[in-house]
Amino acid sequence: MVNKPETVYTIDMIIQKILDEEKQYDLSKIMSAYEFAAKAHANQFRSSGEPYITHPLAVSYILLEFGMDTDTICAAMLHDVVEDTDVTLDEIKKLFGQDVAMLVDGVTKLGKIPLFTKEEQQAENVRKILLAMSQDIRVIIIKLCDRLHNMRTLHYRPAAKQRNTALETMNIYAPIAHRLGMKTLKDEIEDLAFRYLDPYAYSEIEKMLQIRSDKREAFIDSIKKQIADRFRDAGFEHEPQIDGRVKSIYGIYKKAFMQGKSFDEIYDKYAVRIIVDTVFECYNALGIIHDMFRPIPNRFKDYIATPKANMYQSLHTTVIGREGIPFEVQIRTWEMHHTAEYGIAAHWKYKEGINGKDKLESRLAWIRQIIEAQQEADDVEEIVRTIKSDLSPEDIFAFTPKGDMITLPVGATIIDFAYAIHTQVGNKMKGAKVDGKLVSLDYQLTTGEIVEILTSSDPNHGPNRAWLDICKTNEAKSKIRSWFKKERREENITQGKAELEKEFKRNFMRVPEEDLPIFLAEDMKRHNCQSIDDFYAAIGYGGVILSRMMQRLKDKYQKYYAEPESPEPRVQNPDRKSSSGVIVEGQSNIIVKFAQCCNPLPGDDIVGFITKGHGVSVHKKDCSTYLNAMKNNTEPERWINVRWANTSSSAPTFKVTLDIVARENILIIADITKLMAELHIPLTNISVNMLKNGNANVFATINTAGVAQLNNIIARIKKFPDVISVDRS
Ligand code: MN
Repeated sequence: MVNKPETVYTIDMIIQKILDEEKQYDLSKIMSAYEFAAKAHANQFRSSGEPYITHPLAVSYILLEFGMDTDTICAAMLHDVVEDTDVTLDEIKKLFGQDVAMLVDGVTKLGKIPLFTKEEQQAENVRKILLAMSQDIRVIIIKLCDRLHNMRTLHYRPAAKQRNTALETMNIYAPIAHRLGMKTLKDEIEDLAFRYLDPYAYSEIEKMLQIRSDKREAFIDSIKKQIADRFRDAGFEHEPQIDGRVKSIYGIYKKAFMQGKSFDEIYDKYAVRIIVDTVFECYNALGIIHDMFRPIPNRFKDYIATPKANMYQSLHTTVIGREGIPFEVQIRTWEMHHTAEYGIAAHWKYKEGINGKDKLESRLAWIRQIIEAQQEADDVEEIVRTIKSDLSPEDIFAFTPKGDMITLPVGATIIDFAYAIHTQVGNKMKGAKVDGKLVSLDYQLTTGEIVEILTSSDPNHGPNRAWLDICKTNEAKSKIRSWFKKERREENITQGKAELEKEFKRNFMRVPEEDLPIFLAEDMKRHNCQSIDDFYAAIGYGGVILSRMMQRLKDKYQKYYAEPESPEPRVQNPDRKSSSGVIVEGQSNIIVKFAQCCNPLPGDDIVGFITKGHGVSVHKKDCSTYLNAMKNNTEPERWINVRWANTSSSAPTFKVTLDIVARENILIIADITKLMAELHIPLTNISVNMLKNGNANVFATINTAGVAQLNNIIARIKKFPDVISVDRS
């Protein structure tokens, strides 16, 4: 393994760094701390052979990069004196004040916590770290920077120590850094630790990165150049910074190892980051990006308007580059950038910022919550499990308003949270408040958030199919699916019923609903259906193929329901209730058919005849069948009064065939077709016979709403120049 030569930090570098910063530092206090520490460590050396003071200098320098305050820098200078020299805490307190002494004490105590012990002891030690953090978070920030420098110089240590230190870094410090949002530090210590824990994998990934870096850099460079060119005239006060983002080696490893993705899948994800001065410029930049490249729908996320709970803010969008390669663009201000990279440490850099205090407070809240949650648990195993999951970057834990902790994988949404509480909470969820603020359903939870699930009191409320794509846990997914399986039954019944009705209608069959279980009994048995609903559901999901049984049903219908004298009964009113169009006195739900002899239409005077099968056959009052029956007094009791129902907008239509005679002119067909189209009258059939006298006899079958409309149509047809006669056939 090749190691880059480590920078050896000097006090001059520290002074220069302080002078370069806008932030005000008490330089003389820092100088006194340096001189005091240099003297105390005078005869000590690092494993590298450098004077020991180079280490506190390095830690101080890193903390300056984070923008930490004077007391933190002083404490960093002094962080190893109490542990490694004769200096006492009292001396430090006298010389540098209570705060610096407290920070040094905290770091010293943290250093004494042995992290590699039995699991329950490890849990207890982690608890101590958390406690120290909750008292003054600067303690852990110093400790993390101390660890960073020790990791950078780990190659000087004996091999046996390397592995332990690397493990401790990976298991304890990296997760803490992650929790504190200190991304750059976390990435670096993770990569450094990974290098010692799995040197082979580390160098493999490093090699792969090198092999592909040319192609990658060429793509990113061309994108960066295109954007920079476009930005030049866009009126930004300062030139926006455009970076191509590179994933950490351990990040790639984790993805490949844990998600089983290929190196190409992970590596070929391109991303560009744009950093500007103001929020206004963020949106301006976004507009320009969306103008330059085609955005992929639904991939835009506005974390500026709705920051993540860990304070992360940025605009995210994914667009298609000129080469057709998609890439992600993150747009943020410098302050947002520092928060994203340095996490909690950014608080000190922007201490004067309006939200500084609130941000820090909400960061610290989760630490207190872990500690409290731990104190309530008596089971040691439970504590270990809690801490492990709490500190694992793969898990987050959020709280119910009552303080119950819900552990979920990273990326879990409020939907996962709701189903984790209870299936019914999930099914009834209509939204959620996170830390008192309404969030969208795809809101991803982060540790420490308090989630209040809002439920619907509507008994019909249920999950949405789209939730399946939003939620993260299998638990939530399977609960949503099982809801839909149950729910789908209702949908299937509705659909199956509609299909059956449609098929009956198509075949002019009308079976009273109460007869259906008997009418369909044979087929229900054949398909193992216990109830008519089961049968509908089976039709709905395709388990019963209607077309395969229709012939049998038609035969059966013929046998039981159809008029014997009318082999093809035309059931014109398939809708069940009064929408039939005809009201039969004293009867409801009776089958109504229209006699083929006279084809009554709404508006005609009608009369009903009770058939030998089921239902009433409707005739026109001037129909010869009726007139003959009256004249001969045959079965007068079977003739009953019927009348047309008041036709509504959904009035059924009636088929009528017009018998038109016209002088030989083939254009008559075109005229009729055109007229029907103009009048929006469905023309279902048209045929022409040439008569011996040379005239044309046209039969046009149309659907009409009633006599009034039909008379109008007949009048219009009669006006065509070649038409001789028009009759209802
Ligand atoms: Mn140290």
